[in-house]
Amino acid sequence: MFTTTPLYYEKPYERTSTATVVEIVKWKGIDAIILDRTVFYPEGGGQPGDRGILGNSKVVDTQSDDRGQLLHIVSGQTAHTVGDTVTLHLDWHHRYDYMQQHTAQHLISGTLHRLLGIGTVSVHLGHDAMSIELDADTINESDIHLVEDEVNAIVRRSVPVTAQVVSQEDSTALGLRRPVKVDGEVRIVRIGKYDTIACGGIHVADSSELISVQFLRSERIRGHVRTFWTAGERSVALVRRNRELVDAVGSRLSVPPEAILQGIATLQEQLADTRYQIRNAVSRSATLLLDQQLQVAEHANGIPLVVFDAAQWTEDEFKILPELVLSVESLALCAIKEREDGKLAWVVALKGMEDGQSVFQAVRQKPLLLIGGKGGGKPPLWQGMGTDPLQKSQFLEQMVALYREHLHV
Ligand SMILES: [Zn+2]
Repeated sequence: MFTTTPLYYEKPYERTSTATVVEIVKWKGIDAIILDRTVFYPEGGGQPGDRGILGNSKVVDTQSDDRGQLLHIVSGQTAHTVGDTVTLHLDWHHRYDYMQQHTAQHLISGTLHRLLGIGTVSVHLGHDAMSIELDADTINESDIHLVEDEVNAIVRRSVPVTAQVVSQEDSTALGLRRPVKVDGEVRIVRIGKYDTIACGGIHVADSSELISVQFLRSERIRGHVRTFWTAGERSVALVRRNRELVDAVGSRLSVPPEAILQGIATLQEQLADTRYQIRNAVSRSATLLLDQQLQVAEHANGIPLVVFDAAQWTEDEFKILPELVLSVESLALCAIKEREDGKLAWVVALKGMEDGQSVFQAVRQKPLLLIGGKGGGKPPLWQGMGTDPLQKSQFLEQMVALYREHLHV
C-alpha cells in the first residue's frame, strides 16, 4: 500500500502542484488515481472531498479508502498511466467555500460551548447551509443572537487559526472543547483563545476570512435542536439574494420594502373579500338552480321528488347543494354530478318524512350499487362518490321509481 504525502495540511492555500501517478485503481467501478503527493483533500470530518483537474483528467471527488489510501476519483476513464508526471489544479471555489464553512462551524460550536455550555452533537456541511446539532432540546432566540454576535465579533478581530500535532497524552492539558478519542498523534486546531479542538480538516488561516457568519434557522430533531448557518461568500450572496427578493416583492406590490407587510395584509383582505363575494354568487346561482328543479318536480304525498343530473351545475355550485337542501322543508332529492376528474358525486336528501333512514337503506341496496357508489350520512342527508358515470340515467330512473314506491305507500 502506498501512502500519499498530503500537501494540504502544510499549505492549505496551495491550489496547484505537480505529482507522479503511483497506481490506478477502481473505486466503486470508477477509475481512481493514487499520487505520490497531493493538494486534494479527501472527504472527512464532514468536509467534502476536493475536485479539480489532474493532468488531463477531471477529478470529481477525493476519497480515502478503508486502508487510508488517498483516491482521486476521475470522471470517465483516465488516459494516465503509472509513472506519469501530472499537474494538479484544485477547484478552489469549492475548496475555499468549505474551508470557510468548516472553520465557521468550529467557531460557532466553540462559542456555543463557551458562552452557553452547549455541546455539539453532529455537524453537516451542506451545499446550501451548514447544520450544527446541539446537545440541547431547546435554545431561545436571544441566546442564538448572542452567539451569532460574538462569532462575528471574533471574525472582525482577525484571530489566527492554527494547527499543531501533539500526542494524545499532551492534548489533555490543552483544554479541548471535546476530549480526543483516538490514540497516537492528534492534530489540534485553535482559533486564538476562542476554540481548541482536535480536527483533521482544512481551515482558513484567519477568522476574518469568514467575512460574516449568519444564523439561518433551527428545527427539532431526535430531541435536539438543529441550527443552520452560513459563512463567507455564501453569507454575502445570501444578503444579496434576500435584498433582490425584497425588491422584487416590493415591486410586484408597488410599495417600498418597509410597506411590504402592509401591502400583503391589504392583498389578503381583498382576497378574503373576493372569496366571500364569489361564494355568495355561487350560493345565489345554486339556489336558483335548485328552485328550478323544485318548480318542475312531481309530488308524491305532498313531497316534491327532485331527482336530476346536475350537468348544468358547476362543481362549486354542486358542493353547496347539501347546505341548500337543509333549508327546504320537505323533499326527496337525489342529484348526481359527473366531475371533471371523471368521478360521480351524489347527494341524497330525504326531508319531511319519518322513515328517511329506511328509504336510504333501499337506495344503498340497489341504485347506488349501479354506479359503484360509496359514501354515507345520516337523516336527512347522505352524500358520496361513484365510479361509473355510464350508469347515470339508469341510476336516476331507479331513484325516481324507488321514491315513488316509498312515498305512495
Ligand atoms: Zn476542523
